[in-house]
Amino acid sequence: MDFTFNEDQKLIQQTIRDFAETELAKVAEKMDKEDYWPHDLFVQMGELGLLGPTVPEEYGGAGTDYIVQAIILEELAKVSPAFALSIGAHSNLVLDNIRRNANEEQKKKYLPKLCSGEWIGALCLTEPQHGSDALGMETTARREGDHYILNGSKTFITNAPLAQLGIVYAKTRPELGAKGISAFLVELESEGVTRGKPMDKMGMRGSKTGELFFDDVKVPTENLMGVENEGRKIVMSGLSAERATLAAISVGISQRAADIALKYALEREQFGQKIANFQMIQDKLANMYVEAQASRLLVYWALTEIGRDHRANVPAAASIYYAAEKSTKIALDAIQILGGYGYMKEYQVERFARDAKLLEIGAGTSEIRKLIIAKDLIRKGKFEL
Ligand SMILES: Cc1cc2nc3c(=O)[nH]c(=O)nc-3n(C[C@H](O)[C@H](O)[C@H](O)COP(=O)(O)OP(=O)(O)OC[C@H]3O[C@@H](n4cnc5c(N)ncnc54)[C@H](O)[C@@H]3O)c2cc1C
Repeated sequence: MDFTFNEDQKLIQQTIRDFAETELAKVAEKMDKEDYWPHDLFVQMGELGLLGPTVPEEYGGAGTDYIVQAIILEELAKVSPAFALSIGAHSNLVLDNIRRNANEEQKKKYLPKLCSGEWIGALCLTEPQHGSDALGMETTARREGDHYILNGSKTFITNAPLAQLGIVYAKTRPELGAKGISAFLVELESEGVTRGKPMDKMGMRGSKTGELFFDDVKVPTENLMGVENEGRKIVMSGLSAERATLAAISVGISQRAADIALKYALEREQFGQKIANFQMIQDKLANMYVEAQASRLLVYWALTEIGRDHRANVPAAASIYYAAEKSTKIALDAIQILGGYGYMKEYQVERFARDAKLLEIGAGTSEIRKLIIAKDLIRKGKFEL
């Protein structure tokens, strides 16, 4: 295995790092304090050609892979995990999903606008009564001539307050349960679509989250994505790609929080010496290094597996389960190393801790990720690494 980046990947890493450390850094605190969405930076990402890393160039994308997608999210998350989350939802949950599952006409119609930043995308799976049990969804799409009639609601949807296009999952044959799900490309300015107010969150502020209501929305039959009643496969393969790529946000958080803690430990003096000399501080720093590095390796390994086979749900679940829990721990330990200053907004680690927690919940909770891993082990009956 080779975990070093090639020259092209290094170039993209440097481009996105420069963008994050200059442009994004100017608004990262404002995003958190005012729940502010920097739309101009989203458009700038489009101009840099970074919104569709896995989308072929003919549709306006960069024509690269999941590793590049992760590099982008990791670098953005070191400055603003919230911005990284919105970009991840747009680029991976929506654009990559369309790349994998849409037909040629649909790709030509929607991908260029989404890659340029003219349109924002949202992936609409979760419902008020169906989170972990997502396949139990109640939203329905009834076929009537050349349209489907969509009814239901979705909640906790990243980018919903801003998006022009949603991938919406609905039951076309409710009596078949999970075998009656279909995926639709829904233009969110359509008649019958309404949006709730952006939700007021603990962290990831500035990344807009909201509800969507569908009341007799007419969706043309040509906007069915994939095969009718086979949406379950799209949901499940989408969740694997989503988990492994969003885990890169946790990796970015871990690195930046650990870096802030190390710098502080090398400067702060108590009892006449640097606090980095105290072994209990060293214990935390050493754990941070091992846990951040292990997260990173798991995430890039899982992404390689997903790139080969979209059913690689166990590596995907393992990577985000571990990276997310460790990034919350690392951010909390960073607060501890900074003492009272860590508890203050100025030092940023408290923002990283609040943002980190989301990755233990969104894209399937830690508990669901562990169930995926354990069920697979039990099914195989052997422990293969
Ligand atoms: C900021 C944010 C952004 C999001 N973005 C999106 C998005 O873009 N698109 C989208 O579709 N969704 C999105 N979500 C929704 C997210 O995927 C769900 O919140 C998540 O799947 C959990 O569902 P729930 O919140 O309904 O919790 P529940 O499913 O009600 O879970 C509650 C608790 O019960 C536990 N639990 C549930 N079932 C089991 C079980 N079988 N065994 C053990 N424990 C269990 C859970 O682990 C959790 O601890 C987002 C959520 C947030 C907070």
